[in-house]
Amino acid sequence: MTERSVYASLKLMPMPTSPGPDTADAVVVGGGTVGAWCAYFLRRSGLGRVVLVESDLLGQGASSRAAGVVRLQGGTVAAVQLAQWSRRFYLSQREELGTDSGFTQLGYLLPCFTQADVSAARARLAMQNSLGVAARWLEPGEVDARNPTLAPGQTLGGTFCEDDGYISPPRNVAAYTAALLATGVDIRERVAFTGLSLRAGRLSGVQTSRGPIATGTVILTGGPKLAEVGRRSGLRIPAGGARHQIAVTERHPDLASSRVPMVFDVPAGLYWRPEEGGLLFGMSNPAEPPGDDRTVDHSYLDRMRGRLARLVPVTAGLGLRKIYAATIDYTPDHLPIIGPALAPAGPLAGVTVASAGGAGMMWGPAVARAAADVALTGTSEVVEVGSLGLDRFDEAGRSKLASDPVALPFPESV
Ligand SMILES: Cc1cc2nc3c(=O)[nH]c(=O)nc-3n(C[C@H](O)[C@H](O)[C@H](O)COP(=O)(O)OP(=O)(O)OC[C@H]3O[C@@H](n4cnc5c(N)ncnc54)[C@H](O)[C@@H]3O)c2cc1C
Repeated sequence: MTERSVYASLKLMPMPTSPGPDTADAVVVGGGTVGAWCAYFLRRSGLGRVVLVESDLLGQGASSRAAGVVRLQGGTVAAVQLAQWSRRFYLSQREELGTDSGFTQLGYLLPCFTQADVSAARARLAMQNSLGVAARWLEPGEVDARNPTLAPGQTLGGTFCEDDGYISPPRNVAAYTAALLATGVDIRERVAFTGLSLRAGRLSGVQTSRGPIATGTVILTGGPKLAEVGRRSGLRIPAGGARHQIAVTERHPDLASSRVPMVFDVPAGLYWRPEEGGLLFGMSNPAEPPGDDRTVDHSYLDRMRGRLARLVPVTAGLGLRKIYAATIDYTPDHLPIIGPALAPAGPLAGVTVASAGGAGMMWGPAVARAAADVALTGTSEVVEVGSLGLDRFDEAGRSKLASDPVALPFPESV
């Protein structure tokens, strides 16, 4: 039976019931985009009873608060491949699910301001093109023509990819909720994961705020709270959370999405895209220590607005109609974590850890699929998972891998 026909036979089937003690073929911790799509993929792969435990409500972590940017112009091979897989998934959702995450293709410009930016961007472009990404180099005049709101003459050129775009994060939560319901995943909201149950050093189940569930397979997610989920499991997972601020300007005719692509000012860590006739822009303060403070830092917001106004002068006179701060997940090397849990005594069979490393809109479905594959078979065709496991980190959480150079300015430690 092909995967699709398995799915067709599961679609809108009631959740399998299990009389007696609470058991599951797999338990997924966390109902964000990584955990939820993972539960869906596990079910689609043929697992009978998949339970998703979410301490709050589906999507109430980072996943409903994101800016939604999906960028093929990644800084590493794995970053590009995860984004390619996720983008294909977003485009296939309507056929597969009857709904979608609202992927909108808009094109993404990454401008360069120094010769060092140009050299790095050209090297990345060669790598991206070799993987089939249709990104291209724009000369300074072409940058100004492609984005008429950008102050002219500011850049030394930049890379542009027509295929990049963004999803609607709330719509993505709605899409995965529909997918979970359609495939009969047992969704348990307001149920917290509190720990693993081990018998003779092997996984035998999970503990939750509503009692134990016997299972041989667990996938741990948690976004900004993944380290805490790890602590509850007796594991050290180097992942953190940091404040990330988003604001949306008032409308202006110059900011119509027909005129303005998305832009990532990589050196500053500031990005923006059209949103309902205005510009949505976002950034974290790289000097701020990690934490879950969600109050708006107005003085840092002013600095973000200053940088935006210098590059997009029309925004200087515009008020803001939305401002919020949320906690974004990150890993020390800004790359995802996909692999077996590592206990002090070695890999913990049956327990898989998954984090999108702060890029869950552009990588989330692919990370979820790869984590489901690793849980079921130990490997994945989505991406080369061998280098993305927890064994790349030392005791202090330092990674053996070079950091993804096209990332938000996350902290480098946890
Ligand atoms: C403001 C902002 C803007 C962003 N913009 C982008 C963007 O443009 N592009 C992009 O790719 N990414 C972006 N991101 C990052 C992206 O949102 C995240 O990488 C992604 O949502 C992480 O998904 P997740 O499922 O791992 O985590 P979450 O969505 O946080 O889900 C984890 C879930 O686990 C639950 N949980 C925690 N502990 C427990 C427990 N003990 N038991 C049960 N459940 C538990 C939480 O309640 C939560 O619902 C942004 C993030 C923020 C905050």
